[in-house]
Amino acid sequence: MTSPTKYLLDEARMPRAWYNIQADLPVPLPAVLHPGTLQPIGPADLAPLFPMDLILQEVSTEREIEIPQPVREIYRLWRPSPLVRAHRLEKVLQTPAKIFYKYEGVSPAGSHKPNTAVPQAFFSAQAGVKRLTTETGAGQWGSALAFAGSLFDLEVLVFQVRVSYDQKPYRRAVMETYGARCVASPSQETSYGRSVLAARPDHPGSLGIAISEAVEVAAQRDDTKYALGSVLNHVLMHQTVVGLETIEQMQMADAWPDVVVGCTGGGSNFAGIAFPYIGHALRGGQRARIVAVEPAACPSLTRGRYGYDFGDTGHMTPLVKMHTLGSSFTPPPFHAGGLRYHGMAPLVSHLRELGIIEASAYTQTQCFEAGVLFARAEGIVPAPEANHAVKGVIEEALRCRREGRAETILFNLCGHGHFDMAAYQRYFAGDLRDESYSEEELAMALAGLPSVPA
Ligand SMILES: *Cc1c(COP(=O)(O)O)cnc(C)c1O
Repeated sequence: MTSPTKYLLDEARMPRAWYNIQADLPVPLPAVLHPGTLQPIGPADLAPLFPMDLILQEVSTEREIEIPQPVREIYRLWRPSPLVRAHRLEKVLQTPAKIFYKYEGVSPAGSHKPNTAVPQAFFSAQAGVKRLTTETGAGQWGSALAFAGSLFDLEVLVFQVRVSYDQKPYRRAVMETYGARCVASPSQETSYGRSVLAARPDHPGSLGIAISEAVEVAAQRDDTKYALGSVLNHVLMHQTVVGLETIEQMQMADAWPDVVVGCTGGGSNFAGIAFPYIGHALRGGQRARIVAVEPAACPSLTRGRYGYDFGDTGHMTPLVKMHTLGSSFTPPPFHAGGLRYHGMAPLVSHLRELGIIEASAYTQTQCFEAGVLFARAEGIVPAPEANHAVKGVIEEALRCRREGRAETILFNLCGHGHFDMAAYQRYFAGDLRDESYSEEELAMALAGLPSVPA
């Protein structure tokens, strides 16, 4: 078999600016609304939660936003990340397609998340912030922010979803190694957490609840801000460093993708690889098909409603227009594949509505099967989330085989699965079930959507 080919950039060719897709949108994003007045909010409304630099990035329509030098220096600990031609996977699939993956598992936290954790910590420290609060599900975002906080002497307080807190002690140990404090959510530390526990003392927690707790704490103190690992415009923009590097690396391979694939939880790693390509096409350049892949058990893009909803369960955030399963949605307990957020990044939802991207959903056993095949061909054990992208890529490669087409397929291998081996064990033991979310459950969660006149 052929050995893998790696395309490695030198630091000098690392991106100097992030790409802001808002500059190229054919239709601007719908406004973010105040939940009380239903009027568009302004930067001042977000100031209790985020430092002003990040708020201005959130609403900016400048195409390029410079990456500050201190952030570039930290990126250099693991960036540029490798682009790899997956020769062995191609052979196993007997496909005429060329498959490339950008590997973000080389970061200190093992995923793409430090790409935004570092600038968020940097801009917060610049603004005189002393403490950051956040939520984490599987623990990847919590460890990325804990790492970033340690670089800028920020205290980090992480509300970790109760089930993950109990099931993933090593992620917590990583956060504590970087100096963060980790609390199981729902917790006794916030009034929202106490109210949830009063109604149900053994509540397993959800991302939506943990966000409410983190927001509540941040809103109470001037020296404390809130950091989010996905969904928001500026978070997606920070991730574009991934796609911008990839464009340069694909040039070294003399290639341009026909299809770009990413998994979607809140949408940030997908945006990171896809937005620079979408922008290229929106400005009249070569096009690629862009495919988002999500779990059948948390199907916001494929089965959710496109409408205004809260970002959290406690209804403390503004209303954003996105594909949502309803802010009370908790993924079913059988689901082990991550990507559990009830909503989707407004930018990704908007592109879906405009018909610029495609979306598909697969069950968890399909995705683990794909991940195991990838590990045995290419050597890297993907994060369960990344398995969704791998599954999407395998489907595209098999289509190319049926159609006899030598297309070029690119995907974001957004993280490794070294902290998620318990989920792999459950897969091997045959314990992962494939129920999907029923229509009744879906309808129930959606019934609670706030009503916003069109
Ligand atoms: C957090 C995470 C995701 C999901 O978040 P997105 O914002 O959709 O990227 C996917 N993969 C990995 C490895 C993650 O850590």
